[in-house]
Amino acid sequence: MALAGENIHRSATLRLPDGRSTSLQGRELRCPACGSTAIGKPWAHLANFDIENCPDCSCLHLAPLPDPDALRLLYQSSYFQDERETHGYSDYAAEQANVRRTYEKRLRKAARLLSSSACSAADSLRVHEVGAALGYGLPVAQKVFGGRVSASDISAEAVRACASMGFESSLADTYGRCALKDASIDALYLFDVIEHLTNLPLFLDWSAQALRPDGILVFTTPDMTHPINKLLGVRSPSIKIPQHVIYFTRWVLDRLLKPRFEPAFHCWDWQWVSLGQLASRIRMILGVSAISAKRSPRAILVPNGMRLFVYRRTASGRAAITQDG
Ligand SMILES: [Zn+2]
Repeated sequence: MALAGENIHRSATLRLPDGRSTSLQGRELRCPACGSTAIGKPWAHLANFDIENCPDCSCLHLAPLPDPDALRLLYQSSYFQDERETHGYSDYAAEQANVRRTYEKRLRKAARLLSSSACSAADSLRVHEVGAALGYGLPVAQKVFGGRVSASDISAEAVRACASMGFESSLADTYGRCALKDASIDALYLFDVIEHLTNLPLFLDWSAQALRPDGILVFTTPDMTHPINKLLGVRSPSIKIPQHVIYFTRWVLDRLLKPRFEPAFHCWDWQWVSLGQLASRIRMILGVSAISAKRSPRAILVPNGMRLFVYRRTASGRAAITQDG
């Protein structure tokens, strides 16, 4: 058995479909949350990357940042069928029913906030998912919100999968942005994505331009104050190298999202997982490599070290603050 540091969700090397390998390490030393280039206090060293504490915004972040071109390769098809779980999911398709149940639970909480604000009529509501992956959550969003649901993803294969389900779909850049910029979106959601973005200010500028005033930004992300993360530290399943480049806390997020967004709701997140997927997480915590687990259709609801956040776009939020990069 190999140590987790050499295997599950922790590797600086990407194995390509043709058998070659490429390094995921870039050279940029910058906080992906606030842009600061000040050297932070080291928190951990894993798979040749440091995790540092930014002296300006207090986020934990990866240093150096992964190479953007290598990251784009990482999120292509093998990300959803990564048997050894070096970076991706062992079998994302097998978790389809659990992804949908988890999405429904989250989106129903967010939808309550939208209906209490001055939103568009239900039949003209516009909802957009960033990082929609294979589109499993899109029918759920359609059911919960109604209206027009669209999607974007960094992976061309994911965009094709969402389009084949009948949803308007577009390719996102490495910062999570797509062509939508017309302040027409009522609800923008992204689950387990924001911690992957290497330039948060650029994403926030774009999302403030895509959302209408009072529209909601809904996301889940690991919160380092969660009891699971505090207890497990570097062994937490929240620590994924190099996919997760930022590790937030609620207080840091509230500060970083001002003045474009104001907090509307937050709660600890729970998700439905199969017993096989749960066994994989336990192996990661224990530090042993992925070994084949018997697939089981049974699923349970577990805490996942994350928080569900809903922020509301402020009236002044549309003014871009960050220079495009
Ligand atoms: Zn920072």
